[in-house]
Amino acid sequence: MGPTAGKPPATMQAVRFDRATGELRLAEVPTPAPAAGEVLVKVAACGICQSDVRRIDGEIEPRLARYTPGHEAAGVVAAAGSRVRRWAPGDRVVLAAGRQCGECAACRGGAGADSCTDLRLPATHHDGVWAEYAVTSETALVPVPDAIPLEQATVLSGAVATPYGAIETARLRPAEGVGVWGLGGLGIHLVQLARLCGASPIIALDIRPAARELALGRGADLALDPANTRLESYIRGVTDGRGLDVAFDFVGRACSFGQARAVLGDRGRLVVVGTSLDVGEAVPEFASMRHDQTVVAHTGYRVRHLEDVVGLVGRGRLDVSASIGAVLPLARVAEGLQRMRERDGDLLRLLLRP
Ligand SMILES: [Zn+2]
Ligand SMILES: [Zn+2]
Repeated sequence: MGPTAGKPPATMQAVRFDRATGELRLAEVPTPAPAAGEVLVKVAACGICQSDVRRIDGEIEPRLARYTPGHEAAGVVAAAGSRVRRWAPGDRVVLAAGRQCGECAACRGGAGADSCTDLRLPATHHDGVWAEYAVTSETALVPVPDAIPLEQATVLSGAVATPYGAIETARLRPAEGVGVWGLGGLGIHLVQLARLCGASPIIALDIRPAARELALGRGADLALDPANTRLESYIRGVTDGRGLDVAFDFVGRACSFGQARAVLGDRGRLVVVGTSLDVGEAVPEFASMRHDQTVVAHTGYRVRHLEDVVGLVGRGRLDVSASIGAVLPLARVAEGLQRMRERDGDLLRLLLRP
């Protein structure tokens, strides 16, 4: 059993970030109340994602002047707002990032979070999950079976559901050759999921030897340093000259994009994951693409992707138990962020425990 669900206290501990001063600190704030159709979750674990770090460091402009960061969490339902039918206190859940807007045509028609055309995002539109409690739409929760620790469920919400969604975007089929540029928390799980999907061969690329080593352990057939000048001939060699069917670019720089494009085979798909692609830098690379190749951008995941990966772990098909690098108390958030900046927390997921 997870944490017991008692009546939520009036105040709670939360990490607060002030954009003007750059100050990040633990504060006592009012416990949020769930509105109609919303649920209050007692957070058991929350993840530190590279995008949280980039927003705090000012690389991604936050829309809020002061907010609670974090968008990956799992926990136990503490209270349900009016009209909530699916959840009761004590239910173990993982949160999909994003609340329904409640106002778009899909929301008014009673559709779920995956259909909302104006999804409200944590740390962008409202407070995030680095706190003892968090509120979200009842449709943005996925049940977690007792057999899956809530720490693992937290990892599924960001670092596994996003590459899982990217595999769907790529329409990856068994026996297709895959390349993965950038083996951070997302890329490493892409390798693992591509293996599960029957991709072959799977080629992992990262400048860090430790990342390449990890990828070989998670199912990559070959791990290469992108600085290797014979990269293209290696990849042509292991794909019998045909090149890659699918290239996933988790780096999003002109260098990774250019390399991936150069080794893409006929009808190949290049999937740029995340928001870091410098389009201005990459545009010349588009000019040299063949007419039957595709470039597609992929961001985030759907609630149904999160349901799928929870199901895969629950049925023993996917093991993410080795993906958690450390679990720090919420008060040590600054240390966690620093470890992410130094890229040592990037290979395995760093979690916070409120
Ligand atoms: Zn994330
Ligand atoms: Zn909506």
